[in-house]
Amino acid sequence: MTNLCAGWATFGVLNKHRLSFALAESRYSAEVPDDLQADVLVIGSGASGLAAAVSAERAGARVVLATKGSLQSCNSAKAQGGIQAAFGEDDSPEQHAEDVWRSSHETADRSLVEVLTSEAPGAIAWLEELGVEFTRENGGYRLARCGGATRRRLLQVGDRTGLAITTALREAFAAGTATGLPNHALAGLDEQPSGWRATLRRKDGVEAAVEAGTVVLAAGGRCYREAKERGELSTNHPGATGEVTDIARAAGAEARDLDALQYHPNGGSWPANLQGYSIPETTRAYGAVLLNAAREEFTDSLGPRDVVAQAIVDEVAAGRGVETPDGRPAVYLDTTRIPEADALVSLPYMLRRYRAAGIDPLKEPILTYPVLHYQNGGLVISERGETTVPGLYACGEIAGGTHGRNRMMGNSLLECVVFGRRAGAAAAEVAA
Ligand SMILES: Cc1cc2nc3c(=O)[nH]c(=O)nc-3n(C[C@H](O)[C@H](O)[C@H](O)COP(=O)(O)OP(=O)(O)OC[C@H]3O[C@@H](n4cnc5c(N)ncnc54)[C@H](O)[C@@H]3O)c2cc1C
Repeated sequence: MTNLCAGWATFGVLNKHRLSFALAESRYSAEVPDDLQADVLVIGSGASGLAAAVSAERAGARVVLATKGSLQSCNSAKAQGGIQAAFGEDDSPEQHAEDVWRSSHETADRSLVEVLTSEAPGAIAWLEELGVEFTRENGGYRLARCGGATRRRLLQVGDRTGLAITTALREAFAAGTATGLPNHALAGLDEQPSGWRATLRRKDGVEAAVEAGTVVLAAGGRCYREAKERGELSTNHPGATGEVTDIARAAGAEARDLDALQYHPNGGSWPANLQGYSIPETTRAYGAVLLNAAREEFTDSLGPRDVVAQAIVDEVAAGRGVETPDGRPAVYLDTTRIPEADALVSLPYMLRRYRAAGIDPLKEPILTYPVLHYQNGGLVISERGETTVPGLYACGEIAGGTHGRNRMMGNSLLECVVFGRRAGAAAAEVAA
C-alpha cells in the first residue's frame, strides 16, 4: 500500500479509508487499507522534520511525514537571522563548541555540542547542494558575530534564512518518494512488537493510524502555548504547543531542562502590529545597541541571550525604561548605528516591515522588550538522535541537551539540520 506513493511527490490527505494525493497540478486518489504503513514516520514539517524525512528516504526507507498544519507551517520558516558554522579564518569547530558551552553556562551535553559544531560545515554544504544560496562577499560567506560568540560565524540568506532553508528542504522532500500528510496531528503513540502505531487526528476529529518501524519526533517547542497561558507575547507560530513532548514522555522518553524557556531579547514593542515580532539579532551584530530612557548603554548588546534579556528586564524594573504608546515596557534599540550598506544586504525584510509601519530604523531607534521565543530543553537524545526509548527519535527544538539551558542564536537551525539528518538516517537503518 505504501508503494502507492512511490515515485510521486505526494502531499496526501488521509482519512480512515481514502488517501488522496495532490501532485503539483494533478490529483490522485486510491483506496487504502485502514492503516498506512511506513518504515519511518516523521512528525513535523519544520527544518528538523524535513531534514530527517529527506535523509531517511535517501537511506532507502519508506517515509511518511505527518504534520499538524500545512507543510509550510512551522517556526523554522520564520527564522531570520542565520545559521552558525565555523568558516572564519580565525575560527574552528572547537572554538564554536567552546562558545556554545560557555553560553549554556556549562549545562549543555558536550558530546552533542561536539557533533553539532564539527558537522556544521558539512551541513552547510548539504544545504547548498539542496539549493540554499547563502549571502556571500569578498569570495567567501558574509559572516556576522552573534550574541555569545567570540568569532564571526553566522551565515545568512539576507534576513530570511529560515525561509530559504525550509523551502529547499521542502523541495527535496517533494522530489522524493515520501508521503506527506498535512493537517494530521499526532495524538497518540503506542509501542508494538514490530515498532510503533501512531494515531493521527485531523481538525474535524477524524482519526487515522500509521504503523512504522521507527518514529522521528520533530514537532518543535511549546512557546506559543506557554505565552498564551502566561498572557505574554511570543515569536512562535500557533502550532508550537508541545503536546508531542507529552506524548513522548508518556511513552517513557526522558526529558531535560524543560523549565528553561528562552526570551528573545528583542521582541518588537511598537508599532502594535510588530509586537511579538523577533527583531533579528543581526541588528546588534551589525552595530545596533540597547539604550535606556537616558539613551545610555546599560549592557553588552552582544552578550549571551539570557544575560541581555535579563539586563533589559532589570533596567525597566529599575525605572530606566521607556513606555510604548499603549503602555508596554520597552527600551531603545538604536538601529541608526547600523551602516545602511549592511542593512540593505542583511536586514532588508526587517527594514521593509518597519518602514511599512511608518518607522525607519535607520533614522530613529526602535522600541523593544524580551519576548518568549524558544524551548531550550527537551527530550534527551543520543548522538544518533535516539531518545531514551529505543526506536523513538527526536530532533530540533523538541530535543534537549545541545544548548543546555541557554541557546545561542543561529544554533537551532544548525541543530535541525545536523540532528535531523542523523535521526533520519539512524531511524531508517534501524527500521530496515
Ligand atoms: C521568529 C523566529 C526567529 C528565529 N530565528 C532563528 C535564527 O535566526 N537562527 C536559528 O538558528 N534559529 C532561529 N529560530 C529558532 C528556530 O527557527 C527554531 O527553533 C527551529 O527552526 C525549530 O525547528 P523544528 O523543526 O524543531 O520545529 P518547527 O520548525 O517549529 O516545526 C515543528 C513542526 O511540528 C509540527 N507539529 C507540532 N505539533 C504537532 C503534532 N501534534 N503533530 C504533528 N505535527 C506537529 C508543526 O506544525 C511544525 O510543522 C527562530 C525562531 C523564531 C520563532
